Amino acid sequence: LSNMADDEAIQATNDDASECKRYAVQLGYWSDPFINFFVKQTGRKAPEINRGYYARVKGIEVFVDKFLKLSGEKGQIINLGAGFDTLYWRLKEAGKCPANFIELDFPSITARKCYHIKKHKQLIDTLNTEDGEIRFSTTDLHAANYHLVGIDLRHISEITNKLTQAEVNFNLPTMFLAECVLVYIDTSAASALLKWLAGKFPNSIFVNYEQVNMKDKFGQVMLSNLRSRGCLLAGVEDCESLETQQRRFTINSWEGSNAWTMVEVYDSLPQDDRSRIEHIEMLDERELLIQLLQHYCISVAWNGQTFKNLSIAQG
Ligand code: SAM
Repeated sequence: LSNMADDEAIQATNDDASECKRYAVQLGYWSDPFINFFVKQTGRKAPEINRGYYARVKGIEVFVDKFLKLSGEKGQIINLGAGFDTLYWRLKEAGKCPANFIELDFPSITARKCYHIKKHKQLIDTLNTEDGEIRFSTTDLHAANYHLVGIDLRHISEITNKLTQAEVNFNLPTMFLAECVLVYIDTSAASALLKWLAGKFPNSIFVNYEQVNMKDKFGQVMLSNLRSRGCLLAGVEDCESLETQQRRFTINSWEGSNAWTMVEVYDSLPQDDRSRIEHIEMLDERELLIQLLQHYCISVAWNGQTFKNLSIAQG
């Protein structure tokens, strides 16, 4: 049974991520005209945090772009633990539109997201199409090619039903995104989820961003890393190294996987854009940034040939 206090602390991590993103956007690290509809206020964040978020958002975008190129308009994106992520609106604005876009999170989070979407014309208008009827409940929203549904990802038996309501097509090329989500789910439940997805989506790619290198020099997971901002990091075992991050997929029926620390991801981003953002704020100690980036990674896993061996490299 899950612990209510822990679940609330986990849900609060969404506020934290959204506030950090809004602050970095406000300073000009990247463009996101939609984030301020979901987050009103932010306090100041340290420059290395802002650069870390820049690498996170841009690194994920690299794979989203590669996925959309390979799947054309037939692709389907399923964002697990989406929080207040604005990717759907950013893609629409850029004229890139997958066939379907599904977001899942705890009902308490999706209810708040529904509320913000309903309240802002710019958000709701994007969902409208000529024939577009939008159906709302307190926690769920269904539009022509955007679906937001409330669920606890540890309850696999409910997922089929929720995905069916979201008009999922198991045979379409599918991209799963999980940005700082699996670490909050205990290893056995996360494994069951990954295995279930691998079995249901034969042509898919999973892009996962989260902690890595959580071992000390004796090879033990550092106790101080078991909790972060009051949350139990229940899935921290899989965050020990790039190897464990990759293996968690292959032992759960994914055909192959790869992983990069955020140091590698940061260095692979376009040089001109990196130079631009490196001038936004002074960073006295570059070492601080490197240390931070070494503790996060992007891992990808695939099923089928289409998305085999996608790399972080540009182009
Ligand atoms: N992916 C978003 C982003 O990067 O901006 C939000 C990240 S936030 C750190 C983690 C999200 O995962 C929260 O919105 C939380 O509610 C969600 N989450 C964690 N465990 C979950 C579970 N068991 N079921 C559904 N959502 C979960």
